[in-house]
Amino acid sequence: MPSVSDDTASQPAARLALEYPAMVGILGGGQLARMTAEAASTLGVEVAILEHDANSPAGRIAAREVTSAWTDERALSALARDVLAITLENEFVEVAALDSLAARGVPVFPTARTLATVQDKLLQKQNMRAAGIPVPEFAEVTRPEDILAAGEQWGWPLVLKARRNGYDGYGNATLRGPDDIADACQTLGWPDRKLLVEAWAPFTRELAVMVVRGGEGACEVYPVVETVQKNHICHIVRAPAAGDAAMLARAAEIARQAVETIDGIGVFGVELFELADGSILYNEIAPRPHNSGHYTIEGCVTSQFENHLRAVLGLPLGSAAMVAPAAVMVNLLGTRTGPARADGLAHALATTGVHVHIYGKLASRIGRKMGHVTALGATVAEAESRARAAADAIAL
Ligand code: ATP
Ligand code: MG
Repeated sequence: MPSVSDDTASQPAARLALEYPAMVGILGGGQLARMTAEAASTLGVEVAILEHDANSPAGRIAAREVTSAWTDERALSALARDVLAITLENEFVEVAALDSLAARGVPVFPTARTLATVQDKLLQKQNMRAAGIPVPEFAEVTRPEDILAAGEQWGWPLVLKARRNGYDGYGNATLRGPDDIADACQTLGWPDRKLLVEAWAPFTRELAVMVVRGGEGACEVYPVVETVQKNHICHIVRAPAAGDAAMLARAAEIARQAVETIDGIGVFGVELFELADGSILYNEIAPRPHNSGHYTIEGCVTSQFENHLRAVLGLPLGSAAMVAPAAVMVNLLGTRTGPARADGLAHALATTGVHVHIYGKLASRIGRKMGHVTALGATVAEAESRARAAADAIAL
């Protein structure tokens, strides 16, 4: 049993029944919270959403919508009122806010301790390395000279990363040589923003694994998937990833171990690199549902969203097995800036076997995640051609 070092319970108590109305609070109101709310609805559970602005994707379908900063004590009280548990859809929540919620006696998962480790990429990688998980070489950057020293030791290119608040590649810079150091430091906001530097991982593919962990060590590991990024944003997810069984088993085991290392409760997305020799390196972990797990809604016995809820509520976890030989997800990214409009939706909906998800964002921006499509198939190639055809038909 992990030790409990503060007043935050580190495990959800097993729950045998639910009384209605039943509500779960979520910090954040984006598409991840919205799809969690959709899964909650099938168990008769409602959600309370705390988001900065009104009309967020989840706020619009929530039973309770609180709009305020995540650090506002009155808003946190409003979120916590009569909820069974609180979770998050975004790792950039202040740890103090989770502590404050837990102090009100509401179970919060993932815990403040897990979040504190994850939201600092340096601390996160230090913990993973200490647990024996293979990671690229990395070092703390206290001054630009540290980056030069890293380049001399590991060679170029290097990846410079902000320790906090990086997403979709914002917060990262690739350095081809010493001449790139000054500009990259400035772009990433050094010295106000703390940085780490990593050796380049010469990956052949990027893989991801969703892992859900509940009380008493219960754990389900979803299939290893291949992710394809375009401009640092997830573009396509292919499930399952092709590859030999030993490599896939190593990837799944690293993901499971990563979640255990941070004593994670709930669902986690673990991003991995596969190298040419079949070895696997850990990249990072998301302490929440993850874009690489959207295929699980139609592709698996239990979706990442439902299993996340089950974990934080202390309910038994569901199977993570796939219900079809293959599933492919393609993201629908904004193609213009302005009011959201799904052109070509009728064409996409007419594509056989395709599931279209639109997140209900009221404004589109170029590159903004507006929705996704998933197709199942007898092979990954078949699922991918269906999903691509539907995605190509829609412009948001
Ligand atoms: P996300 O895109 O998941 O929000 P993020 O902005 O937190 O992620 P990372 O996952 O650290 O950033 O990096 C984004 C992408 O940059 C990775 O998916 C990978 O393609 C590339 N990358 C990151 N670190 C390395 C590395 N050490 N070597 C090579 N490529 C890397
Ligand atoms: Mg990432």
